Amino acid sequence: MARYTEVAQDSAWGAIDPWAILLRRQIHRHPELGLETEKTSVLVESTLDELGIEHKRPITYGVTGVIGPDTGPAILLRADMDGLPVEEATGLPFSSEIAGRMHACGHDAHTAMLLGAARYLKQHEAELNRPVVLMFQPAEEGPGGALPMIEAGILQNPEVAHAVMVHVDSDLPAGVIGLKVGAAMASPNDFRIIVSGRGGHGAHPDKGVDAIVASSAIIQACQTLVSREQDPIDPLVVTFGTIAGGYRENVLADRVTMTGTIRILEPMRREAILSRFRELVTTIAAAYRAQVDINIHRGYPPLVADETFTRQVGNILEAALGSGHVAWLGHPSMGGEDFAYIAERVPATNLHVGVVGEGSQSGLHSPNFILNETAIGTGARALAAIALLAAVD
Ligand SMILES: [Zn+2]
Ligand SMILES: [Zn+2]
Repeated sequence: MARYTEVAQDSAWGAIDPWAILLRRQIHRHPELGLETEKTSVLVESTLDELGIEHKRPITYGVTGVIGPDTGPAILLRADMDGLPVEEATGLPFSSEIAGRMHACGHDAHTAMLLGAARYLKQHEAELNRPVVLMFQPAEEGPGGALPMIEAGILQNPEVAHAVMVHVDSDLPAGVIGLKVGAAMASPNDFRIIVSGRGGHGAHPDKGVDAIVASSAIIQACQTLVSREQDPIDPLVVTFGTIAGGYRENVLADRVTMTGTIRILEPMRREAILSRFRELVTTIAAAYRAQVDINIHRGYPPLVADETFTRQVGNILEAALGSGHVAWLGHPSMGGEDFAYIAERVPATNLHVGVVGEGSQSGLHSPNFILNETAIGTGARALAAIALLAAVD
């Protein structure tokens, strides 16, 4: 037990914590979007150089580093680096210097947590009984950076046996780490539907095909996917986010375009629900004599946290941070997460790092989002403790 608390209470953190916070602020000033995390990648690489950690770029702006032995089942620690197209309104002295961009999802803090853990682990490299793969990925907010990095081979050489990600959580206090066993985050699937009818005079609807009436029937019918076709205790969301069509009050609309999102938690249900969605939309349109064109973009798969590994991580964190610092979360989130592609391949878990505390405000993706920076040290300690202490199997 002593070894666990030693990691979290090591005096080395006295130097690492402020250093990681400065790195986080530097990243916060210069948010980058999607796959184009060029400056952040360069900063990560120069920091790894400074720490004497070997690194490479499996994709243009994604970085991996390795600490510890060369072979053996590795543990992968993942941080994402991308920001959001949000105009920052926090007024922080280290606010975004790029108009219309902000680190509003805390990925700046994730990168700093992983660098903090890396610095600690490098100092304790001799104690590592397995390789630690550090993964810094772009484009978590889309179009996705995890899958291209997997395809570039990051789960091999050394062979990855377990993986851990961090994400800030604006529902938990700083100092606390939340864990969720099983289905933890949803698969977001976006759609676009074009309903085509036949235009005409609004006074003579019988002479045309009204795309607006057909569309309203489609919207209503699709709600029954949730209410009549899905197990009531298994979450599903069907949201129509936009609808556009028509010309003026006395003209039959010949065309309506609608977009929306379908979010599913249970991996086995995804294809069944999407296929029923397609069937409902097509047959309702036909019943109203309209034509329909449906485009579905399958998003990230659901994120499922491995039960055995998550329990093991929970035991390590309870011993390292104290049991009051670990929260077992009951509810999944209907948000998406591309770490799901890694969790499909190796036992994995998500550390929900609480960020509510002095100075914090608002939630993720908000222009006013401020996190309590002590969370960076908590996340770094958690990652370091897991890398040092998680059993190989
Ligand atoms: Zn986000
Ligand atoms: Zn995020």
